[in-house]
Amino acid sequence: MKPEISIEFFPPQTPEGMTKLRAVRGELAKLRPAFFSVTFGAGGSTRERTFAVIKEIAAEGHNAAPHLSCIGSTRASIRDILNDYRAAGIRRIVALRGDLPSGMAETGEFRYANELVEFIRQETGDCFHLEVAAYPEWHPQARNPQDDLDAFARKVKAGANSAITQYFFNADAYFNFVDAVRARGVDIPIVPGIMPIFGFSKLARFSDTCGAEIPRWMRKKFESFGDDSDSIRAFGLDVVTALCQRLLAGGAPGLHFYSMNQSVLIGEICRRLGLEPPSQ
Ligand code: FAD
Repeated sequence: MKPEISIEFFPPQTPEGMTKLRAVRGELAKLRPAFFSVTFGAGGSTRERTFAVIKEIAAEGHNAAPHLSCIGSTRASIRDILNDYRAAGIRRIVALRGDLPSGMAETGEFRYANELVEFIRQETGDCFHLEVAAYPEWHPQARNPQDDLDAFARKVKAGANSAITQYFFNADAYFNFVDAVRARGVDIPIVPGIMPIFGFSKLARFSDTCGAEIPRWMRKKFESFGDDSDSIRAFGLDVVTALCQRLLAGGAPGLHFYSMNQSVLIGEICRRLGLEPPSQ
């Protein structure tokens, strides 16, 4: 059986961005993903835009999974959003804590994602399939790996059905994480999050912030390419395809792609992995 793939977008800020995303989605739909997900800004900052993209995806006949982050939100505002999604026929949510922009005070009624998962279950029962985030290289704010594993297990106990990981480039981190949660009796599917490499300097900065390690051998090689974007792209494709192959061979149940609203690299990686559906 072919592994399932899913693909993540962010909600564009402009009408041009929305138009471009429609075309990107058209291309990526050829891969027949299990669902497209759309991110959500902390404190509800993208609430309308996230919903607009989700509605379009659903209207096109695809499964749409909005992300929902709870930090800086009230129970009443989350309840409203859940009601909107339920009424729109949405049946999957990626439930997160989120990160408040620096300087924004934490005035909401939720502290951690497990509280959001619990609230969604209380409010809506089994209406939604709930995805939560997992961190094979540990969340940057975690006091230690044990606490982070405990936090993950709490989200599952609260009612999460499956998990998507932060991206990483070290397959062993994923396998170690899966072994560690299985040892705690957690048996939900944990789908690796895959970041195609669009460029190196941005990736390096972003990886430092979110706690994803770029192994030295990769970093040195990327740095040696300087501004040669063709070489960066070619090496990035090789590295990410090899990572996906190793993850799938080791039992990963699927792949979740961080698309950055672009289709070409994901299409090429899936082609190399043999995950393209046969042409009709
Ligand atoms: P949590 O699971 O609550 O964990 C956050 C931290 O708190 C961890 O360090 C954990 O160990 C710790 N912790 C948890 N419970 C406790 C406790 N009871 N006591 C002490 N410490 C505790 N962000 C967005 O804003 N919008 C998005 O759309 C979005 N999508 C994402 C999708 C994926 C697949 C992933 C992996 C991340 C996404 N993020 C998004 C980023 C995410 O919101 C951040 O990583 C955020 O910092 C943590 O969210 P969480 O849901 O993992 O939080």
